[in-house]
Amino acid sequence: MARERLYLFDTTLRDGAQTNGVDFTLNDKLAIAKMLDDLGIDYVEGGYPGANLTDTELFAQERRLAATFTAFGMARRPGRSTSNDPGLAALIEAKADAICFVAKSWDYHVRVALETSLEENLASIRDSVRAAVGKGREVLLDCEHFFDGYKANPQFALACATAAYEEGARWIVLCDTNGGALPHEIEAIVGAVVKVIPGTHVGIHAHNDTEQAVANSLAAVRAGARQIQGTLNGLGERCGNANLVSIIPTLKLKPEFADRFDIGVSDAQLKTLAHASHTLDEMLNRAPNRHAPYVGESAFATKAGIHASAIMKEPATYEHVPPDAVGNRRKLLVSDQAGKSNVIAELDRIGIKVDKDDARVARLLDVVKEREAIGYAYEAADASFELLARRVLGKVPNYFNVEKFDVSVEQRDNAVGRRVTVSLAVVKVKVDGETLISAAEGNGPVNALDLALRKDLGKYQSYISGLTLTDYRVRILDGGTEAVTRVLIESQDEAGERWTTVGVSPNIIDASFQALMDSIVYKLVKSGAPA
Ligand SMILES: [Zn+2]
Repeated sequence: MARERLYLFDTTLRDGAQTNGVDFTLNDKLAIAKMLDDLGIDYVEGGYPGANLTDTELFAQERRLAATFTAFGMARRPGRSTSNDPGLAALIEAKADAICFVAKSWDYHVRVALETSLEENLASIRDSVRAAVGKGREVLLDCEHFFDGYKANPQFALACATAAYEEGARWIVLCDTNGGALPHEIEAIVGAVVKVIPGTHVGIHAHNDTEQAVANSLAAVRAGARQIQGTLNGLGERCGNANLVSIIPTLKLKPEFADRFDIGVSDAQLKTLAHASHTLDEMLNRAPNRHAPYVGESAFATKAGIHASAIMKEPATYEHVPPDAVGNRRKLLVSDQAGKSNVIAELDRIGIKVDKDDARVARLLDVVKEREAIGYAYEAADASFELLARRVLGKVPNYFNVEKFDVSVEQRDNAVGRRVTVSLAVVKVKVDGETLISAAEGNGPVNALDLALRKDLGKYQSYISGLTLTDYRVRILDGGTEAVTRVLIESQDEAGERWTTVGVSPNIIDASFQALMDSIVYKLVKSGAPA
């Protein structure tokens, strides 16, 4: 049986840009549009041309995208003609492949917010769609508050949708603007709409205020809608929009959808999903959500020993989909609950083959348990675990020695009389018999130490020049004066690969130093730097 086509519409750059704390620059928007295009998204909504400088510039750019680049804006204002509405004119003239109008479809909003008549609202929809279709544009209508509107006055909500469809709009998008609808309500209401407007012209735009935006989107598809709107990582105001990063693999990998529908995302593009999700977080300077479905670091992580031995024999026993299908990977956590099978599996993953009866495996397990007892957390620090394992197995060269370091923190008045706190670190390292001394100032002692440590490593410098620290987390364990500090550092290299290292000490600088050292040595091992 031929599969039906389902279309994906991304609004990260428009609705996602409403997220608290998110402020995309023009370059961010261009980079995200490219990323969405590479992922195989059908429609990319860029923003509101004419409404702000960034979006106006964005729509003026030359773009080479396969996706339908869509401009968003209001239907004509009540009481005006289409020719006398500058906002509408700017929208229709924008260099866009499609135009998405937003209009009210809840009678209560028309009366209270627009202060106009229901008939004038319908006329505004008809006139706006007609004007844009007349200019040869593909037109979408976002029916704002459609589900609340339908519950209050189904005839009017449907009249709004039908008005746009009859004037030639390609898509009638039903919006759960307040995000409070539940999946069974969405399924019932979309089911009623597709009796009037063919489902091949109906879209769903769900917000996540009951944490069911993904479920609501899938319910709409079950009822007949054939376009899904959402954002990467569920970005969006309040609780966010429907998360395309969860929707896409569900459509591709779950037979109920995969057997019935085709989407624009190929199997190869699906494998880049985790990377795309993490890249967006990186642009927003956020640590990726470890527990994100499909793409989170913990999405395919298994902890206890008995599960690990089963998962090695037959991954499907503990995994609902294969992790590499979405560009993620299986992770067997090495922790004090770990058995030998976890350790062997983890060694296998990092390319170290050992016999399960090798005495070094038992020793490694003992070392892991001892160190976790004093605060190390190897399940969160994969790179430190790998180094520890390689050391126990005798496979880490001694690249360089830090002979000493000194970190100072000074508070003083600067040249213009402002009180400043400055940190200075001096590091003395021995590389290949040569002593190198580096100093660096930083905004804090750890930052200064990091900069000094990575400033000059002699013949190893070229291997670490692309290394950056992307996250730094500190946790105080125990409590009171006996407290120890655990530091987790996440690093990234020029290829975008990330790893986490750990350090533990009563002294936060020392704990940070251990984690920094592990990060650098890990990078040297990974790059195959000569001993
Ligand atoms: Zn929205």
